[in-house]
Amino acid sequence: MLRSVILAAAGSARMERFVANAPISKNIVHRFVAGDGTEDALRVSRELADDGLAVSLDHLGEDTLTAEQAEATKDEYLRLLGRLKETGLTPATEVSVKLSALGQKVDDRTAYEHARAICAAAADAGTTVTLDMEDHTTTDSTLEILAELRKDHPATGAVLQAYLRRTEGDCRELAASGSRVRLCKGAYAEPESVAFQSALDVDKSYVRCLNILMAGEGYPMLATHDPRLIAITEDRARWFDRDPSEFEIQMLYGVRPDEQARLAAAGYTVRVYVPYGDQWYGYLMRRLAERPANLAFFGRALASR
Ligand code: FAD
Repeated sequence: MLRSVILAAAGSARMERFVANAPISKNIVHRFVAGDGTEDALRVSRELADDGLAVSLDHLGEDTLTAEQAEATKDEYLRLLGRLKETGLTPATEVSVKLSALGQKVDDRTAYEHARAICAAAADAGTTVTLDMEDHTTTDSTLEILAELRKDHPATGAVLQAYLRRTEGDCRELAASGSRVRLCKGAYAEPESVAFQSALDVDKSYVRCLNILMAGEGYPMLATHDPRLIAITEDRARWFDRDPSEFEIQMLYGVRPDEQARLAAAGYTVRVYVPYGDQWYGYLMRRLAERPANLAFFGRALASR
């Protein structure tokens, strides 16, 4: 219930103005977001690399409604990848891209062309791109664009969301050699017709999908902070005889950093998803929806002003 209310607020322009103008917001934001600019993203990538962690950088922004905005997002990724190449932070740092920020909801051909330019720049910088997955109305289009991109850039990664009823089938399709698949629970408010609603059903789906990906020939990227699912991931890696170089565990910047360090010290590849940019509102609201403790932290910070 609380999750649905917060996710509804994530789409509210009025709520966005209120939160963005709250004087304390920046402190809360910086717990989950590297900062506003490219150099902030590079600084955090370097710090995490020094701690033995891999990174996926995400330039914040979604639901781009004009061609100019989409172009500006593409240009920011090209600038970022140029800087990653110059600073030698690749291949440990890759990038995550939301197709909606490249104009997918206006014209998916434009989003594809921009994504293709970003994949080419990533290849030039010696790294890869993962396409984030957004709400279920975009899943087909995102997977179609992924298939096109993989013709020239086969290492382009996909994200599949365990809460969607279709995802087991998508895992079977994508568990092939050369394919990189991030499996997450899913962060959007989705109707019962397309998505499991209870946490238990989502977790069970996650484990079924995990089994398919670990048994397959691709490179699974298990994105979760859930201790039970991490333990099951470690167990399945042993069961399917996967070397730590043959899969990775991913977590969000600012969430369970001690666990990230523990897993890296145990020899796993741990990739931290690091968002940056000033369009942090939707991202922050999804993090608050996931964890009431984060909401209490947010409320206390506002009240203390
Ligand atoms: P949850 O059900 O949120 O939490 C399970 C348990 O994990 C909790 O009970 C607690 O024990 C522990 N835990 C969780 N958070 C904390 C915390 N802050 N501190 C301490 N313990 C905690 N979603 C999409 O829809 N599309 C994407 O493209 C996408 N990309 C992602 C990329 C990465 C790298 C990650 C990690 C997540 C991504 N997500 C994405 C978000 C994802 O779908 C979930 O919403 C999010 O990860 C929360 O789910 P969870 O698996 O961590 O489990």
